[in-house]
Amino acid sequence: MPEQVIPYTLRYSSRARWVSGRIRPETGLVITLPTHAKPQEAEAFLVKHQQWALRHLNRCAARWTQIPRAWPYGTSLLIRGEAHQVEVRKARPGGVEQAPDRRLVVRTPSAGVPGAQRVLQRWLKEEAAVTLRQRVEELGALMGLRANRLYVRNLRSSWGRCWQGGSLSFNYRLIMAPPHILDYVVVHELAHLKEPNHSPRFWEVVGGQFPEYRPARSWLRTFGPCLSA
Ligand SMILES: [Zn+2]
Repeated sequence: MPEQVIPYTLRYSSRARWVSGRIRPETGLVITLPTHAKPQEAEAFLVKHQQWALRHLNRCAARWTQIPRAWPYGTSLLIRGEAHQVEVRKARPGGVEQAPDRRLVVRTPSAGVPGAQRVLQRWLKEEAAVTLRQRVEELGALMGLRANRLYVRNLRSSWGRCWQGGSLSFNYRLIMAPPHILDYVVVHELAHLKEPNHSPRFWEVVGGQFPEYRPARSWLRTFGPCLSA
């Protein structure tokens, strides 16, 4: 049987006290060495933990292929956590139609990828705004909290933000995540209206409405980078 080569990235850290390995779908295996360690120590680590690394890398690869990472022409796109087949048609006026058999028909007046992408992103933003408005209201009512204003935007590096003065903004890509993940982010930002930091008090408020927040957070860390259109 041919031996499987395990790819990894080597990293040195002044804070590391021993050799360690970490596997994430978006980074693969990263082996961290203390600053003064020899590179051979990474190989020794790998020999010792080969079974562990193979098992996790294969599991990551399997999950990873289920979720599209980028603009998925002719493939599938997640909407509310469900994979939809994307079809692009040249037609006027532009728009998106969600067919019952989980097909997403994107009509674009201008041929080419950027045109279709613009149409799709606009539609995703509108869908996100409708759903987020509704969930902020419903979950807010349950928690006894009310946002002053709500913005749905293309946030670069976060899923949501709570501003001084009680405004909330959300990343429109949340519409691609499963509904309970969107709910978790809504609850998280609503909780900031009461507790501005991430103190134990804050997590108590979150947990009061959304007890299973830990797996939701790790879902976002693992699969969040895949939610792009
Ligand atoms: Zn927060």
